[in-house]
Amino acid sequence: MKHDCHYHPGESAKWHCGECQIHYCNRCMPDADTRQRRALCPHCSKAMRYLGAATEVIPFWQRLGAFFRYPFHTDPLIVIAICTLVPVVAPANLIGIVIWLLLALALFKYTYAVINHTAEGHLKPPAVSVAFTGSGFNIVVLQLLVFVLMGGLVGTAAMLGGSILMLLALAFVVLALPASIMVLAMERSVGAAVNPMNLALLISRIGTPYFLLYGYLILLTLASGAAQDFAVNHFPMWVAQPLAGFLNSTFTLILFHMLGYLLFQYQEELGFASDIQDDIADQDTHQRDRTSRFDADIDMNLKDGNYDRVMGMLKEALKRDRDNPVRIGQLYQLTTARQDVEELYRYHPRMLGWLADHNDGEGIAGLLKTLQQAEPDFKVEDPELTVRCARSLYNKNLFKPALRLLQDFHKRFPDNEQLLPAYLLVAQTLANGLSQWEKATAYLTFIQKNCESHPQHDQMTTYLEQARNKEPLKGPKATFSVQD
Ligand SMILES: [Zn+2]
Ligand SMILES: [Zn+2]
Repeated sequence: MKHDCHYHPGESAKWHCGECQIHYCNRCMPDADTRQRRALCPHCSKAMRYLGAATEVIPFWQRLGAFFRYPFHTDPLIVIAICTLVPVVAPANLIGIVIWLLLALALFKYTYAVINHTAEGHLKPPAVSVAFTGSGFNIVVLQLLVFVLMGGLVGTAAMLGGSILMLLALAFVVLALPASIMVLAMERSVGAAVNPMNLALLISRIGTPYFLLYGYLILLTLASGAAQDFAVNHFPMWVAQPLAGFLNSTFTLILFHMLGYLLFQYQEELGFASDIQDDIADQDTHQRDRTSRFDADIDMNLKDGNYDRVMGMLKEALKRDRDNPVRIGQLYQLTTARQDVEELYRYHPRMLGWLADHNDGEGIAGLLKTLQQAEPDFKVEDPELTVRCARSLYNKNLFKPALRLLQDFHKRFPDNEQLLPAYLLVAQTLANGLSQWEKATAYLTFIQKNCESHPQHDQMTTYLEQARNKEPLKGPKATFSVQD
């Protein structure tokens, strides 16, 4: 069953907290360890259940083309070629039979590995080496045992209840065979693979799609048989034999890939979870830092409406990292949205600095207006910040607030090195913004007299010249080109 993230509707959930009954997506859980399938609930810190990709797996009946392409990858083709061609050239004696048996064993092992591999979310076939190395060759014996036991079941039914019960038992065995193969591949246990309860449970959990798959299996088996029949009847024996073997192996791989995919698709219902592995393999899930966890927490709490909680988190974060621009920005946005004047006042120096860094003149004007409404005598106490804010206001053509901010600068911050930039800005605002050239000239004259030590002092003559000609006050650069 598909669940959406509680906080991101439309995004499929990857985690579920049984305690809080909340579903989370990957964006909510940046710190989750998908490989180990471990994550703690952001609300209650309890371990959560991994839902895997079940929620976004394409149903198998929508990707039939991909199933048919499956055997035609290098690895399965090599396995099939070795296992069907080598026996043809093998000597017709005991050694030949042994070779034939070993290769059949390898092919058998490979096909069962396809189920596991697919069920774990790998949509590409397993490597060649899987067929010829490692343990798991006993799968042949296990599968034979399963067949024997199933035969025994049918036989027992015949003995106990006559032909009707035998037919029922036979029908069940035939119907449950794919389920039994899936269970055997996943659990490697004969007992589990023949336990009727187990098989019935698996079939009922998957539901109708199981029977749909069953239909495909029958069709494929028929097609495979017909193709092999055709090969045997129309080609000489030495071509027909490997060709039939090749067809048989390819169809088996397709069938087993389908079985594995069914497990993958219904992983949640079947009680295990895996995610599509092919593209996330390289991603280092451990490198997700605490910052993204913090951001996800803020996002969740905002959506839950826990604004006080978010305020607390941001303030706490700013205690640890005073000038973190991301947190200052978040705090500014939240306090502005809530019109929390008290907090806006408390954090206004850092917020104004952040706004000035972003050249957000409108934001500065808004914040200053709010603060001045709350406290008519409000003034920015830092001379440098005052000038930076005024410049942002000026850049956004907010001339009145800029002038108001710089009012009486020389009285409030006497002998400050910011005096020249401050009043130059006033002059520019008056001249360029409000066309008040006389007033602008007065300010320029004032700084020419009072700021002799400032490195920009030399430029004042140029500015005064521009003001006299009622040109925009642009500074020396523009003037040089005019003078030349
Ligand atoms: Zn989410
Ligand atoms: Zn929880």
